[in-house]
Amino acid sequence: MYETTVLIAGAGPAGLTLAIELARRGVPVRLIEVAEAPFAGSRGKGIQPRTLEIFDDLGVVDEILASGAPYPKLRVHLGRLSLQWGSLSEAKQPTQSVPYPNLWMAPQARTEAILRERLRSLGGEVEFGKALASFTHNEHGVEATLSTGETVHADFLVGCDGGRSTVRKALNLRLEGESIDESQMLVADLEMEGLDRRDWHVWPFTKDGAIGLCPLPNTSLFQFTSKADAVASNIEDTVYRVTGHRVRRVAWSSTYQPAVRMVDRYRVGRVFLAGDAAHVHPPAGGQGLNTAVQDAYNLGWKLAAVVTGGADSLLDTYEAERLPVAAAVLGLSKRLHRARSMKRGDATNQLALHYRDSPLSTGTPSGGLHPGDRMPDARLDDGGRLFDCMRGPHATELVTPDGPRILIRPDGYIAHIGSTHFSEYRGGPVHRVSGRVPQR
Ligand SMILES: Cc1cc2nc3c(=O)[nH]c(=O)nc-3n(C[C@H](O)[C@H](O)[C@H](O)COP(=O)(O)OP(=O)(O)OC[C@H]3O[C@@H](n4cnc5c(N)ncnc54)[C@H](O)[C@@H]3O)c2cc1C
Repeated sequence: MYETTVLIAGAGPAGLTLAIELARRGVPVRLIEVAEAPFAGSRGKGIQPRTLEIFDDLGVVDEILASGAPYPKLRVHLGRLSLQWGSLSEAKQPTQSVPYPNLWMAPQARTEAILRERLRSLGGEVEFGKALASFTHNEHGVEATLSTGETVHADFLVGCDGGRSTVRKALNLRLEGESIDESQMLVADLEMEGLDRRDWHVWPFTKDGAIGLCPLPNTSLFQFTSKADAVASNIEDTVYRVTGHRVRRVAWSSTYQPAVRMVDRYRVGRVFLAGDAAHVHPPAGGQGLNTAVQDAYNLGWKLAAVVTGGADSLLDTYEAERLPVAAAVLGLSKRLHRARSMKRGDATNQLALHYRDSPLSTGTPSGGLHPGDRMPDARLDDGGRLFDCMRGPHATELVTPDGPRILIRPDGYIAHIGSTHFSEYRGGPVHRVSGRVPQR
């Protein structure tokens, strides 16, 4: 039997982020993936400003920015007429407190490749072609059987295994909610002949509903979206009939049913759920991948603190903090889907998500900041940036002139505002810096 500390099922954005968080804290981890090879599609291509901050902390934001692009402008086609319809959101300039203010586009497969490379640099790897088949668990640990027949004993199991999660089903947890569209939707990556790559093309009124073709940065591909019924015969014919442009190659395709569903528990004993395994979103608003990454980012440092001797109750705060976020995000995605809204901005950028009601948030609001808020970036007295000092697995204490001390958790949320000085946080180191909080 193989022994490990944390077994993660599923190497999508949630599983990869969690594995990086654990590996960079020296926690033994195995990351198993049922697929034989990396995911190849563009699916979740919208990376929100808050996730860019997390990627900054994980040490991958430069690669994500270099391999992606801002969202292109929309071009609406009505018969022979075509007109530019503006952008998904207004482009904003970076500020001292928000260094990444804009939605960024990177095909999901590339985001995953960058995360896999980061994991590799930390000595970890994805074990492809190994599914979690079944498991038993008790207060001492988890015994899992893999599709290869191997048995793994782990202290904790995390199901990052997507919408059809084996872990969730084995725990008898149900995804409660609803389908919000009767139609199956199709998403595909297409190489097109002669279609202008500067704009995101939309044909809103075809006889089978809207059709979109969005150019994917640093590829020769477009992400195609439509109702699945619209291409009952084949994608090539439908696209040519509607757009007048030929499809050179279908690189990847998949169908999905837009739904808003979530579980009512994220933890059963030593087993956790994260990402789409716990909540499924319609693509509207670009929230699913981002929420998956942020689940894992919340759970990672807590699991590491507990396996190195911290109180188990810290792990209960994962559900307490992330379940309300999923509920709020699902409500938002549902409203955007129903309104057929393509607008993005402050409502979807996830910068305002907070854990103010968490038992981990203590102290007194000050200067517009509340315990539990995302800590904004700030200029330090030595001229450096706060986010540069926060990067890494430690907590950070910001000492402000004539003001309170702000204790910042390893995941960038404010743990405490007050006059207390912290030499350690949840068993881990605290780096102390001094500077000013930007006025809000
Ligand atoms: C058309 C479309 C557009 C989207 N656009 C956006 C967007 O712009 N922004 C955004 O944030 N989100 C978007 N999403 C959603 C996003 O793709 C998902 O929310 C995201 O992939 C969830 O990540 P995850 O890691 O939780 O799950 P997944 O990406 O589903 O990964 C789960 C992994 O687990 C593996 N697995 C399954 N069962 C097992 C098992 N038993 N053992 C081992 N491995 C297993 C799977 O093979 C898979 O690799 C979009 C989705 C669609 C369909």
